[in-house]
Amino acid sequence: MPPGTRMQGDIPVGTMSSGANIALPVTLIKGTTPGPCLWINGQVHGAEVNGVVAAVEFGRRIDPESVTGSIIITPTANPLALDNHSKTAPQDLLDLDQNFPGETSGTVTGHLANALFDQVRTMASCLVNLHTMGPIYSSEPYCIYKIWPGGKVTEAQLLRMTSYFWPSMACRRIDVGGTGELPGNVDGALDYQCLARGIPAFMVELGQGSWYTPQNVELAVRGLMSLGRHLGILSGEPVAPAKILRATRRQWIMVRKGGLFLSTCDAKEIVPAGQLIGRVVTLKGEVVEEVRLQVDSFVIGIRRDPVVHTGDRIGLFATEWDSVGFE
Ligand SMILES: [Zn+2]
Repeated sequence: MPPGTRMQGDIPVGTMSSGANIALPVTLIKGTTPGPCLWINGQVHGAEVNGVVAAVEFGRRIDPESVTGSIIITPTANPLALDNHSKTAPQDLLDLDQNFPGETSGTVTGHLANALFDQVRTMASCLVNLHTMGPIYSSEPYCIYKIWPGGKVTEAQLLRMTSYFWPSMACRRIDVGGTGELPGNVDGALDYQCLARGIPAFMVELGQGSWYTPQNVELAVRGLMSLGRHLGILSGEPVAPAKILRATRRQWIMVRKGGLFLSTCDAKEIVPAGQLIGRVVTLKGEVVEEVRLQVDSFVIGIRRDPVVHTGDRIGLFATEWDSVGFE
């Protein structure tokens, strides 16, 4: 590519029965002078649309002539799930964000992961992976970062980068390596595999799935602009809060009884220990469960689809957090 230009393309993955290509749409922006490469991945989970919109919108606002280094944008890493309005590809129902770095001898989700990561590992100096919570939850924008043990990317670096997204909470996940909050392979997350290779990477969660939220998209676009400035890719000063909240422990809460879960709290609220979070009411009007936590809890996401069965998740809560300041 000539300096100061933009190019559109597709990263090939495979083919459908009909012959249609399975491919990842990509925008390449090459700056006027060499420098670092910021990679924006808009989506790994197909119903999480705000990240797709934010990635596209960010790309539209960048003038290649004003860029030092380069920017690569993949609005979706999971076109099969996007087209299906579902979290996972309907062909194998596997979680793409548990399958990096990917491989090409298994089902299609491994192919998708491999196609993206093959490029990321050689090109990216920094990666942002955009998500939302599922469509059934109410949530305010927050961030998640992980730490690769002994890796060269520090927690301070990641906190600084997440702050540009003004997160309601920056959640540190330390449960990688087999003891996750939920069953699944957290090691296979895109950001974690980047960290393993010394590439700073983290997740931004932009509200609720299957729901276009313009203010969350705008927050993400501005955050990406500030991150670009922080990396020296875009000119100007990044904009960030003086301090953010950092969660060091969090947990999903499940109900024991089925019925209708009626929440009594909202996202970003701090619920004091012992206070009601919500109740499960049967279709015969009987209250069969009252949900309370033993400690003060910050509501990261709370269920708004009331239909619950035994063992269903009703919310994600931070139960330990502190404030982190920046100079
Ligand atoms: Zn997600």
